[in-house]
Amino acid sequence: MRHRLTVEAYTQGILSGDRIILSRAITLIESKLRNDKILAKTVLENILPNSGKSIRVGITGVPGVGKSTFIEAFGKHITSLKKKVAVLTIDPSSKKTAGSILADKTRMEELARDPLAFIRPSASGLSLGGVARSTRETILLCEAAGYEIIIIETVGVGQSETLVKGMSDFFLLLMLAGAGDELQGIKKGIMEMADAVAINKADGANETAAELAVSEYQNALHLFPKSDSDFITKVLTCSALEKFGISSIWELITEYQEATIKNGYFQKNRQAQNLEWMHDYIRQTLEDQFYENSIIKKAIATSENSVKEGNELPVAAAERLLDIFRKTITK
Ligand code: GDP
Repeated sequence: MRHRLTVEAYTQGILSGDRIILSRAITLIESKLRNDKILAKTVLENILPNSGKSIRVGITGVPGVGKSTFIEAFGKHITSLKKKVAVLTIDPSSKKTAGSILADKTRMEELARDPLAFIRPSASGLSLGGVARSTRETILLCEAAGYEIIIIETVGVGQSETLVKGMSDFFLLLMLAGAGDELQGIKKGIMEMADAVAINKADGANETAAELAVSEYQNALHLFPKSDSDFITKVLTCSALEKFGISSIWELITEYQEATIKNGYFQKNRQAQNLEWMHDYIRQTLEDQFYENSIIKKAIATSENSVKEGNELPVAAAERLLDIFRKTITK
């Protein structure tokens, strides 16, 4: 087993903003080892009173839209205001495969060197549920370490947007002008989740197309039901490369934060997210206990075969396995 610190060392290190200890604490909460889990739980309980005081900003968009370039420019803008920013990435494909947003090239090099910034990709080899759990806990650790803005980035595919939306206060969708929605793989549901849409690469020859896209998206957004936050989704243009439009997006987020704190939505949304977190945790733990159960492990292959061969209904096989599981845990 790798060397671990004491609970006190993790707690004090995080609270004093020590980035190395923060990193080690994140590694600890990502660990699947039983002893690590116990240690991580105590550390989290210790830092909990110091967490929560941040704005959590989810950012999504298809690969190539400019997420890492944008986050670097946006992060540098935030640090220029003497505020601390943490960037967490949720990458469900991060098994060093093609399409991974954490390709070998170092992303956000300039921001990574900034003493007011902290960048951490999600651990590879975890299920989406596992990544969700560790990211939620990582947000708390970063907040306790004094990070005032937490950016949670996800690549625009699959279920990860819903997951990030479920842990953000503000959700930003990056888009490109000129490419159809179909082409960008953006589903209506994702547009509906956004608190703001930013048309990136609005520079050079792209400028006019970007302005046109703003009115197109604004029209499309009118058709969506009003959000519970009472905040009307804004569409803006920006250039992450030329660092234009970045400060307007930050101002919009600040405006959103003030407005939703005032009307109570900010707190209500966090409460709902905490409830969702609790239920997710229960589901995940029960599922893990089921599949990690040694008797189930032995029985499952036979059941799978009989379902595959058509000898047993899926529901009947599932019920039989659940029965076996119930008996093992009530013993
Ligand atoms: P990601 O896959 O969404 O993280 O996208 P990247 O940040 O890696 O950017 C993809 C490509 O688009 C890179 O070659 C960037 O230099 C370029 N890019 C990003 N933002 C802009 C922008 O605002 N304007 C222009 N012209 N190019 C950009």
